[in-house]
Amino acid sequence: MTRPPLTLYLAAPRGFCAGVDRAIKIVELAIQKWGAPVYVRHEIVHNRFVVDGLRALGAVFVEDPDEVPPDRPVIFSAHAVAKAVPAEAARRQMIWVDATCPLVSKVHIEAERHHEAGLQIVMIGHVGHPETIGTMGQLPEGAVLLVETVADVARLMVRDPARLAYITQTTLSVDDTAGIVAALHRRFPAIIGPHKEDICYATTNRQAAVKAIAGRIDALLVIGAPNSSNSRRLVEVGRAAGCGYAQLVQRAGDIDWRALEGIGAVGITAGASAPEVLVNEVIDAFRARFETAVELVETATEAVEFKVPRSLRAPG
Ligand code: SF4
Repeated sequence: MTRPPLTLYLAAPRGFCAGVDRAIKIVELAIQKWGAPVYVRHEIVHNRFVVDGLRALGAVFVEDPDEVPPDRPVIFSAHAVAKAVPAEAARRQMIWVDATCPLVSKVHIEAERHHEAGLQIVMIGHVGHPETIGTMGQLPEGAVLLVETVADVARLMVRDPARLAYITQTTLSVDDTAGIVAALHRRFPAIIGPHKEDICYATTNRQAAVKAIAGRIDALLVIGAPNSSNSRRLVEVGRAAGCGYAQLVQRAGDIDWRALEGIGAVGITAGASAPEVLVNEVIDAFRARFETAVELVETATEAVEFKVPRSLRAPG
């Protein structure tokens, strides 16, 4: 049987970022150092495949820190946790390791600096996302106001419009955030913000790569988890860039092949917490059904690497 021809445009950069890579290494090294089980607060990164792999090594994922026995180590996820969480672990004299991405920690430091300077903070982020909860939880309740949309900016009730600063979640849509920042500046001309936005390099690069392939493809598949903010943003960026069919898939089994009938070019990318093995699985699934040509479209190269915490580094 002859297979129809199809070109796969592989966006680059895609997949694992330095913060996710470090968080996974932290769990693996903690299991090596302290043995299983090692407890992890929340999914270490938003990807079931990664979480299942670590579970098989001896990681136990919990939502409530009270579920962690006091004599076992606990790791806090890449998205960070509110300040009260490590404080409680220290009070219980537990061993804990913070896997918060250094780029999220940078936003925490910014927020603390603004708060110490007496500014009220507006955070642009998603309600209920662990990163938003973690960042807002660095400061006393009420110190940070959350906005998700331009409409939220219009509704904001602030203490003093002349004493405001804004910060953002690291995994937002670059374009949508620019619109919200512009609305903040229009309503509060004195508001101050980061020199360069808080959206991280990995989020920015993955969105730019999707925009670069959007004009050449009939469909975009983003490999990522439904609760992964940066993956969902990639779907939105693809749609906004004119790609009529853009879908999030966790792995090859999720692909709706009927929706792809008759098309000739598909774009593939992966969120920052999706491993390359799942990208390869998707490519193989296309090869089984189509005469597939793979073309890499690389818009940036990344050399960012974060060290694991000192307590887990090999001596010497
Ligand atoms: S997406 Fe960005 S902020 Fe989040 S873990 Fe990766 S590098 Fe860090």
